[in-house]
Amino acid sequence: MNYDIKCPVCDTKDYIDIVELQKYPISNLGLSNTKKQSLEADVFDMNICICQNCTHIYNRIPVRLDYQQNNTTYFTNAIQKKYIKEFTADFMNKYKVQNQKILEIGSGDTLFLKEISQASNDCVGYEPSFTRDFKEGGVIIMSRYFNPLHDINDNFDWIVLRHILEHFDTPYIFLKDIINHLITKGFNSKFLIEVPNIQPSLDGLRVNDFIHEHISHFSIYSLKYLLQRLNLNIIEMFTTQENENIVAICEMDKDYLNIYHKSKLYKDNFEHIIVKLQEDFNRIRTENNTIVIWGAEGRGAGFIKIVKELFYGDEYIIDSDKSKFGKFIPAIGLQISSYKNLIDKKIDSIIITTALGKDNILQEIKENNIDVKNIYCLSQFGLNLI
Ligand SMILES: [Zn+2]
Repeated sequence: MNYDIKCPVCDTKDYIDIVELQKYPISNLGLSNTKKQSLEADVFDMNICICQNCTHIYNRIPVRLDYQQNNTTYFTNAIQKKYIKEFTADFMNKYKVQNQKILEIGSGDTLFLKEISQASNDCVGYEPSFTRDFKEGGVIIMSRYFNPLHDINDNFDWIVLRHILEHFDTPYIFLKDIINHLITKGFNSKFLIEVPNIQPSLDGLRVNDFIHEHISHFSIYSLKYLLQRLNLNIIEMFTTQENENIVAICEMDKDYLNIYHKSKLYKDNFEHIIVKLQEDFNRIRTENNTIVIWGAEGRGAGFIKIVKELFYGDEYIIDSDKSKFGKFIPAIGLQISSYKNLIDKKIDSIIITTALGKDNILQEIKENNIDVKNIYCLSQFGLNLI
């Protein structure tokens, strides 16, 4: 049965159909044994469309296929074998892939892993079309679908997905699950991704390139869009086999990981600083008779909101900007005065409400000879005496 999907890359449903192919059999999964069987084979429609948001090309009414231990007719010919040999050698040379841990999802005929294992790499492959698990040299093959939630128990140096993503109706979710799992476990794997390039099929009007097995038809742009949406940093992207494949080498973005890992810390720290500012203000309030708060709008008003419940009612709210004098702080109800009111008065304390304007305010205090005992300024530690 066909089912209706959103764009596998960007998750929107804004498309233009480019070709409708009616009653097509499944091309590579299960040949018929008799003519009768052949004529009774299931056929399904394909609606190939272009996403108007990310330009990804996909079959918006795919058929759910099972690749588990079936009579697949995928065949690796001599040219493809030569290509894999050269491709693997280039990859190992360029990225110094030696004594490393490699995971391949959908390892197919295992040619890639066998080549890679020659350089003392430990290789694990998941391939549902095999009938049993096996080990050969440095290669372990698990004869089942890869499960992102259960099968990443090691810090693999590389996760390889060659000619896999085009088979998924939700490649974003599949990769996102893998990446989330890596982050949770504290692993940091690089990715080698290879997909067929749809561009030559489009340019050559190769209508028979659209097959049920391929739900997604990636271009350089749509693959890039998918990887960037996943916060992956693309180290390089190139095409191979006369532009027929796109290869992407990527890694998890360090800036993204840095902030992601600090999410909980930021939450704790902001909760802490609010309490600390209130505690510090309370202490300053009890230690000083006069309190002047300098900086009344924007960031200043934000600070006043945090400590307002602790005010005695005789605090001065001051600003450097004369257009604010006499006005009231929104939602707080306190009036802003001129700093000139402080001249010739003995002031116990001034609280500068913005670290960004601190130097400017200190200059004004000095130029106007304002006599103050203690000056405090907001910092990440609370209200600091300066
Ligand atoms: Zn899209």
